Parts: sequence; structure tokens; C-alpha cells
Amino acid sequence: MAATTRTPVLAGNWKMYKTVQETVAYLNEFKILVQYTEGCEIVIAPAFPALAAAADAVRGSRIRIAAQNFHWESEGAFTGEVSAPMLRAAGCSDVIIGHSERRQYFGETDETVNRRVLAALEAGLRPIVCVGETLDQREANQTKDVLLRQIDGGLVSLTPESMSPIIVAYEPVWAIGTGRTATPEIAEEAHQILRDRIRENLGPETAEALRILYGGSVRPANIQGLMARPGIDGGLIGGASLDPASMAAMIHYRS
Ligand code: PEP
Repeated sequence: MAATTRTPVLAGNWKMYKTVQETVAYLNEFKILVQYTEGCEIVIAPAFPALAAAADAVRGSRIRIAAQNFHWESEGAFTGEVSAPMLRAAGCSDVIIGHSERRQYFGETDETVNRRVLAALEAGLRPIVCVGETLDQREANQTKDVLLRQIDGGLVSLTPESMSPIIVAYEPVWAIGTGRTATPEIAEEAHQILRDRIRENLGPETAEALRILYGGSVRPANIQGLMARPGIDGGLIGGASLDPASMAAMIHYRS
């Protein structure tokens, strides 16, 4: 098999933080901090009200804007929801799907993840699909089963062609927002389980091309160790992405 040439992706998930004004101020500063970097893709996922202003603020730069969720229907009587075509029209290129906070607090299941993945692709949004086990599941030796169930269930009816834009993020729930990062070895082992499954289901080329990000208390002090692992293709970063200097330091992880 040819050596892998997967471009790393560093994505900031801002969760329910930052107003429109704070978003624009951050991006204006951040754009300058990362303007001479290359070699990795940069994605920022602000809250819904700030998406259009964020897309305006990064126009002409290589920063991509992601939403954190959406509804799989393209329009209709779904009070409080937004659709994939609306996100595209607001300037988003990417969308996070199945984050563990969506699964834990808002009833997201593998089936609804799959609906969203298909709807995102249909609308031309690049899905960042999150999977990961809880602490109880890890302690009960269920990590592999959970990951296989989530990856199979979330990616039902995908083909090697439709898989090509998709990014997967392995986010162990016990590492999110806890300061307890998975070791590079633990993360890589999980990434290998996921990549092997994609190889089994969709073939070696699709598996080799798939970017799998690690998420869970990534910060400037630990990103280098994680990114040194060949199976880890980037990071999905929550808390440490909220400060432009900290996010920029992680984009500069090689220097
Ligand atoms: C996340 O929200 O996806 C995340 C990984 O959060 P944190 O980096 O704060 O653990």
C-alpha cells in the first residue's frame, strides 16, 4: 500500500460559547495568526447565530466554517431547527454530526447520525462524524463494540464514493472537557479499530484515505504527541479552541 498522504485537519468546536461579535473579533485575530501556516486544514464551528458572520469574516482565507448540528429535513414545520441547505447558504462548508453532547443531552442515535450524514452529503456539506465510548463502556471492555456499532450505524448505505468527503472524529466521552486526554497509544488503538472497520466495509483505498481526528482535552501541550502518531489525522478541539492564540499554537504544532 502506498504511503498515506492524508492532510491533517484541526477543528475547533466552540459549543455554546461566543456571540456574533465575539466570533468576528476572534476570527479577525486568528486569521492573522495562521495566515502563513500550511499543511493542515483549519475548521471552526461557532454557534448558529454567528455562522454567517463567521463565514464573512474568513472569506479569502483557508479557514472553513462548520455548524455543530442540523436537522436532516431540508425544510418544514420543525420549530427551532435549521437545515443543511440553510447552513450552506450561510457559508458553512462542514458540519459536526453526532457529538457526544448531542447523543447525551438531545437524544442523538446512530440512526439520526446516519440521517444527518446522508442529508449533509446531499446538501454539499462535509460531515465530521463523532464516535466514542463512555468511561463505563471502556471499563467494561466494550470500547471496540461501541465504536463498531457507532461507525456502522452512522455510516449505513455509504459507498466508497460517498464516503470520500467524510471525516470521523474519535472522541472518548471520558476525555471531553475533563482535562483527561487519551494517551496517543489509546487514541491510536481506537483509530485503528475504526480504520480496520472501514477497510472491511468499504475497502482499503477508502480506509487509507479517511481522516480520523482525535478529540478530548487536546491542547497546545499535548497536540504534538498525538499528531506524531501516523493513525491520528488531526484534532477536534473544544475548550482549547476558544482562545485564538491557543488554537493558533495548535495549528503551528509542527514548529
Ligand atoms: C469537543 O467538544 O469535541 C471536545 C473534544 O472538547 P474538549 O477539547 O474541551 O475536551
